[in-house]
Amino acid sequence: MIPYGRQSVDQNDIDAVTEVLRSDWLTTGPRVTEFERALADFVGAAYAVAVSSGTAALHCAMHAVGIAPGVEVIVPPITFAATANCVLYQGGTPVFTDVDSGTLLIDPLQVEKKITPRTKAVIAVDYAGQPCDYDALKALCTRYGLTLVADSCHALGAKYKGRSAGSLADLNVFSFHPVKHITTGEGGAIITNDPELAAKMRLFRNHGISTDHHQRELQGSWYYEMVDLGYNYRITDFQCSLGISQLSKLAKWIERRHEIAQTYDSAFAAQPSICPLEVRSDVYHAYHLYVVRVQSARADRERDTVFVKLRNRGIGVNVHYIPVHLHPYYQSRIGTHTGLCPVAEEAYGKILSLPMFPTLTDDELTRVTSTFVEILS
Ligand SMILES: *Cc1c(COP(=O)(O)O)cnc(C)c1O
Repeated sequence: MIPYGRQSVDQNDIDAVTEVLRSDWLTTGPRVTEFERALADFVGAAYAVAVSSGTAALHCAMHAVGIAPGVEVIVPPITFAATANCVLYQGGTPVFTDVDSGTLLIDPLQVEKKITPRTKAVIAVDYAGQPCDYDALKALCTRYGLTLVADSCHALGAKYKGRSAGSLADLNVFSFHPVKHITTGEGGAIITNDPELAAKMRLFRNHGISTDHHQRELQGSWYYEMVDLGYNYRITDFQCSLGISQLSKLAKWIERRHEIAQTYDSAFAAQPSICPLEVRSDVYHAYHLYVVRVQSARADRERDTVFVKLRNRGIGVNVHYIPVHLHPYYQSRIGTHTGLCPVAEEAYGKILSLPMFPTLTDDELTRVTSTFVEILS
């Protein structure tokens, strides 16, 4: 089975990890700081805070922004559940807003309609690896005094009008899960230019304690203070060492993702029933996912049939995502329902994610395109 996504780990990565395992610092050590510096430099921002997962990063962001009971955060439904769950962790209310039908990205015009006196933040999701329209979102957030958070878990290496994903919102979140562009096994980070928000998130990932083990060791002191309620969201030094090694290969990997996307684009150009999502001309796409709509007039639920046929032929397609507001937990506990985001719901019935990862070979790629075209013609 050709999977839809796969990590690439080579001997350099393995050496980077084992070197740390032989060192004195397995966690809160120098590699964490180094990885944070490398990430911030890569996207061109001031601060990066590395944590144990993308979900932990989203939670840190919601805490830093001050999300609490009675506060609303506007989120799109075409995303992984964690984008909305992080609002619930803080006792806040996620308010779902519909997406643009061409790109499936959050639609700034729809966002404005959802703003109330209780709204404090907007989370934009760079779905599939394409940055949202940050100029429009930023203007809207400035006008209403809202914090703009980017869930850029799909978009490491992407650009919007020449600016890097990770530098486009007030707080920018990444994940280093193995299906993402670079991996640390599990891991995540928040990137910001705001020193106060960065400091709040550093506290939050370490129980709300004002110094970490490394700082106390350097100061030769046992004294510490817990000044806030936090969690243990720390990431280890061997994970960060892997992250540093992986980051050095990112640009090359994204180039390969572009080659794959171009091959798909041309293979499907003459197939009216296979419609790739729109890509705006002002972005450099990171292609975490290559998503198409399957839309033939032939049958209802055609996507579901095609999904099974492709899987049976060894092509590991997937569906990203079940709109978050349709999950049973959201419907029964948060009161969301079908009809809330019609564009997202319509898209959900048609989308398929095709295999997309840097080590996908040309032969495998040909197998995917020819099988897909054959099934749909
Ligand atoms: C992967 C992902 C997350 C969560 O990241 P984890 O590291 O798996 O916790 C959040 N949002 C989006 C859009 C993601 O793709």
